[in-house]
Amino acid sequence: MNVEFTVLKRSFEAYQAEYEAAALRVLRSGWYVLGNELAEFEKHFADFIGVADCIGVGNGLDALRLAVRALDIGEGDEVIVPANTFIATALAVTESKATPVFVEPDAYFGLDTDKIEAAITPRTKAIIPVHLYGQPCDMTSIKRIANAHKLYIIEDCAQCHGAAYNGKMAGSFGDIACFSFYPTKPMGALGDAGAIVTGDKALAEKLRMLRNYGSRIKYQHEVTGVNSRLDELQAALLKVSMAHCEAGNVERQSIAQRYINEINNPSIRLPQTRIGATHVYHIFPVLCSRRDELQAHLQRQGINAQIHYPIPCHLAKCYASLGYREGAFPIAESFAKEELSLPIYVGMPDAEINWVIACINRFE
Ligand SMILES: *Cc1c(COP(=O)(O)O)cnc(C)c1O
Repeated sequence: MNVEFTVLKRSFEAYQAEYEAAALRVLRSGWYVLGNELAEFEKHFADFIGVADCIGVGNGLDALRLAVRALDIGEGDEVIVPANTFIATALAVTESKATPVFVEPDAYFGLDTDKIEAAITPRTKAIIPVHLYGQPCDMTSIKRIANAHKLYIIEDCAQCHGAAYNGKMAGSFGDIACFSFYPTKPMGALGDAGAIVTGDKALAEKLRMLRNYGSRIKYQHEVTGVNSRLDELQAALLKVSMAHCEAGNVERQSIAQRYINEINNPSIRLPQTRIGATHVYHIFPVLCSRRDELQAHLQRQGINAQIHYPIPCHLAKCYASLGYREGAFPIAESFAKEELSLPIYVGMPDAEINWVIACINRFE
């Protein structure tokens, strides 16, 4: 049996009539950029996360880049970033000529809050916690540390739409939170899209300018902005995805629960959920000291399992100039060597879930 890592077509087909109606509405409207669809999406998404403002942008990386810029973080400044994240988190920092200072993950793949303070210097301006794989970081400790050292918090919420910590939505803790709506994410567009949310009115206004050529009034350019607008078509499609985000999260949570209950191979370590966290399982990460063999074993059985991520940020070629060596972050490095992501997606048939469990349990 063939089990793909994810099948986007299944979640599209589940709501096909709604997506097609939304797309046709925009195509026939004659208005394609910065219109009512975006305004309505921004209002609904801000309400969904429980913050005052949402600013739609072109993608998740732009959300992070603009967040760093809006906080005036630049050359000579340092930003705390997890070593085990998708490269976009670090790129947002280096794009502004600031320096990413990497910190090890905890057992839940989030920032290890016991190791943040040792990384803080007088130059530190912000912490970017990444709610990796769909599980919120320990935001209570991160907020305490940020307050004590007067640092900004930028949440990287690219993988955690609808996840919560102590009953509050991920994305409602930081000064700014950044979302990606890349199609595979827990809430996806049918193309590239992203958003920034914030409770700070002045920051929201600045971000609205930054995404649109630095201008509030046409042809009056107050800052050197960029063009990163969430277009009307994606905004309309995202309203459909948002309406079904919770159902998708519940479905992935139930697949994850089956994996947790039924995988019983002693060579496999299953993901743990932090107390107080709701995990939305964008990714279902297992750890195995013979990870590459496990991946090959699954592939021979037709199962496509993937690695998130094989090279930690501090060892990425593009950051060679930062001067980190192998061994600098042993926990992040061990995750890069041992992590394997099992297929988990909306519309995944029971037969596929059964097959993944059977093949994992047969690995020796
Ligand atoms: C996907 C992702 C991003 C970037 O989002 P794009 O929309 O692809 O630009 C940033 N951070 C993390 C953790 C991600 O997973």
